[in-house]
Amino acid sequence: MKILVINTGSSSIKFELFEMNNKSCLSKGTIERLGDAASSISYKINKTGEPIKNKLEIPIADHTEGLKKIVEILTDPENGVIKDTSEVDAVGHRVVHGGETYSGARLITDDVMAKVKELIPLAPLHNPANIQGIEVAEQFFPEAAQVAVFDTAFHQTMPAKSYRYPLPNELYEKEKIRAYGFHGSSHSYVSKQMLEALEKPVAETAIITIHLGNGCSMAAVKGGKCIDTSMGLSPLGGLMMGTRTGDIDPSIPFFLASKMGLDLQEIDKILNKQSGLKGITGSNDMRDVMELRANGDENAILAIDMYVQRIKKFIGAYAAEMGALDSIVFTAGIGENSDELRSLICDNMSFLGIELDESKNATRSDGNRPVHTENSKVGVWVIPTNEELEIAIQSEKVIKQEVAQDA
Ligand code: ADP
Repeated sequence: MKILVINTGSSSIKFELFEMNNKSCLSKGTIERLGDAASSISYKINKTGEPIKNKLEIPIADHTEGLKKIVEILTDPENGVIKDTSEVDAVGHRVVHGGETYSGARLITDDVMAKVKELIPLAPLHNPANIQGIEVAEQFFPEAAQVAVFDTAFHQTMPAKSYRYPLPNELYEKEKIRAYGFHGSSHSYVSKQMLEALEKPVAETAIITIHLGNGCSMAAVKGGKCIDTSMGLSPLGGLMMGTRTGDIDPSIPFFLASKMGLDLQEIDKILNKQSGLKGITGSNDMRDVMELRANGDENAILAIDMYVQRIKKFIGAYAAEMGALDSIVFTAGIGENSDELRSLICDNMSFLGIELDESKNATRSDGNRPVHTENSKVGVWVIPTNEELEIAIQSEKVIKQEVAQDA
């Protein structure tokens, strides 16, 4: 079975085509700056021998042209990996917000589309782009099943005490204001990998997954189910991120409005785009920030202290909530690549049973790996995330269930 995974943003499309028999990637790529004169598509084709890598800087007007280009690359008579689009059995779409309706992936029907549209107010930047991606994919892959895999779904197992805010009841009942959590495919993927490595019944496990990329979030996963997560109604909450604040005193926006006269759009821009690492150091890229810090830049030193402090707080909070801790898992760009940050986060945590082995931690390698000492009571793991593969796996599961139901 071949599954194409599509992750559509307002000006980007990421794609990855999988052969599900051996879970291998046949081709993957990204289109950036859709609708801009400087748009480009970079892609990789994994054929026997050397993979082909290419980047075309060509104008791509919109999502329809973008997907057309992807189809051309996949079906190229010389270098393509499929003869025609009918070889693709399913298209798995990343859909950011599934609200309270979806706790798992769904075959896309008119009803599902209507619901995803209804949820636009909860994800005004993301769900419209995801809808566009689905509509365009239906045109280009008319024979394929279309499946929606929701970023929020993994966190739907949270109990009310975790997802409710102490706001008036009607704001939850009428407006569905509550914590949803995001990065679900990543937390789901790495927690399943972690559970496989733990040699104990899933029901008895307690792990914390730490996704540190441009966006950062953590999840407390007890008995294989998410019981709490750091992002909330939107991906702005929780940890300090590349450009987002994470949790701040809720009165700060009032202050920005009343004292500085800023409007909602300006406040939104500050909190979402100009804060986090960028707000403190001028750069949202962790590599730059770590370099500045190494050169003694005071703002970078402070930014990393703040960044690490917040992660430590959530580790402590989640350990306390779960009443147990088997392992913590680092993933995504920063979590997988920065041994220095992992070391700072795990520093002075032996009271919780967390002891990092500095030499294992500093050794770079691909794949899942433990980086704790032999005596550490809590495992510390680096598990590379693979959100696209998780979307493909969940899409395949949905299709198989449908086939079984029809049989
Ligand atoms: P996204 O959330 O956009 O998918 P990624 O998961 O790719 O982002 O993470 C991007 C972040 O990872 C950037 O801040 C980047 O600086 C950081 N990163 C990548 N490699 C390293 C490294 N070797 N050391 C520190 N940070 C790194």
